[in-house]
Amino acid sequence: RAKDGGRDRVAVYDSAMREEAQARHVAEHRVRRALRTDGLRVVWQPIVDLRTSELVAAEALVRLEDPVEGILEPKHFVDTAEDTGLIVDVDTWVLQEVLRQLREWRRDGVGLQVSFNVSGKTLEHPAFAHRLAHSVESTGASGSSLLAEVTERTLIDLSTSTRASLGELRSIGARVGLDDFGTGYSSLSYLDRFPLSFLKIDMSFVRPLGSSDRAEAVVRALISLAHAHGMVVTAEGVETELQARMLRDMGCDRAQGWLFGRPVEAGRLPTGPVTASRP
Ligand code: C2E
Ligand code: MG
Ligand code: MG
Ligand code: MG
Repeated sequence: RAKDGGRDRVAVYDSAMREEAQARHVAEHRVRRALRTDGLRVVWQPIVDLRTSELVAAEALVRLEDPVEGILEPKHFVDTAEDTGLIVDVDTWVLQEVLRQLREWRRDGVGLQVSFNVSGKTLEHPAFAHRLAHSVESTGASGSSLLAEVTERTLIDLSTSTRASLGELRSIGARVGLDDFGTGYSSLSYLDRFPLSFLKIDMSFVRPLGSSDRAEAVVRALISLAHAHGMVVTAEGVETELQARMLRDMGCDRAQGWLFGRPVEAGRLPTGPVTASRP
């Protein structure tokens, strides 16, 4: 009996693995096609100053427009892009779009900072930072408006080439910060590996605010840790007024989340104080 069960489990496992391999294959094909056919898009999510509720920045989030499935979110293709190395091309494309948008906003007198996500794999390619520095210089884009979001994993694995890329980002005035802070790693020793300008508290810590004293204590500690290191703190995934109020009272600097706005096309970003959620 145990033997049969074992065999069944193996069969189930095999078919699950086959399905996963198949899904990855499809995702890889989609990313390759999107890169070839101009199928990537960027949507922008507002980041507000918690004290004034003013829009101060926007995060560029990639989307893939598939001819059959329509608009796909990163969960459908970013992991595969990471595994296959295609993420380097995705990030490079997004960054060009970020710089283009930044120039457009500057021309229109819109003084927003722009945040973008950059994979550790991308930073390992020396060409990425070189190209960015070159684009910023040759187009007159303002490097100091750029916020580069990296993950804890990137800092833990920090290689010589990644450090050089991050250094190059800083040398053009860009700020480097940590995304999804608090997820995954119990040691914070990696915080000393590279000078970070900002830190984004992961939404898993923000969500229980108001219903858990423990969550509140953790968030309070993360904010004071960040401030002690001279970093600006952004809370991610803020969905309720209560969460926003608690974060403001705890001294959190900035917030991002459905309460202030979902990711939208650049032209649909709110202007002026962002007080209510928008559809
Ligand atoms: P992230 O950088 O942590 O971005 C925040 C994610 O949380 C976004 O998901 C955003 O839509 C979602 N979000 C924001 N506010 C709320 C909220 O109030 N409630 C909830 N439930 N969700 C909220 P999205 O756009 O699906 O992106 C997922 C992840 O994909 C990003 O997480 C980032 O890690 C990655 N990603 C996105 N664009 C790029 C890119 O251009 N390059 C790379 N390497 N990764 C990217
Ligand atoms: Mg991010
Ligand atoms: Mg995040
Ligand atoms: Mg995330």
